[in-house]
Amino acid sequence: MSDDLSELYQEVILDHSRTPRNFRKLEDANRVAEGRNPICGDHYTIYLKLDGDRISEVTFQGSGCAISKASASIMTEELKGKTKAEAENIFHQFHDLIMTGAGGGPETGKLAVMAGVHKFPNRVKCAILPWHAIEACLEGRKDPISTE
Ligand code: ZN
Repeated sequence: MSDDLSELYQEVILDHSRTPRNFRKLEDANRVAEGRNPICGDHYTIYLKLDGDRISEVTFQGSGCAISKASASIMTEELKGKTKAEAENIFHQFHDLIMTGAGGGPETGKLAVMAGVHKFPNRVKCAILPWHAIEACLEGRKDPISTE
């Protein structure tokens, strides 16, 4: 593993990919979306329970690489309890963070550990996949999400 790669797979990311948080089916979800990244083989289902405008519960299931799994795991922790508008805001900040490695306002919190991903364009799709899926959930779209 090169130095750059070991920087990418830092401890927090490895921890979340080995022991993903909120990794289960949510039986009383009122929104579900599926996301696929055919290039890498990442495939996740995101379960969301919306309580009015607020995300009261968010979980996920599926399989994929360490980056996508860690991203989904951290995402569920960060978005639980947030409103739709807050979630959108965090998504935009996260998007900037993994595209440029900079930015990542105060909202990004733990997501800042994903900043190193911007150096690996192939991995950006892995990191963003769960976010595209949850965005589809929030918008009520039904079609499966694909990065291609
Ligand atoms: Zn991947």
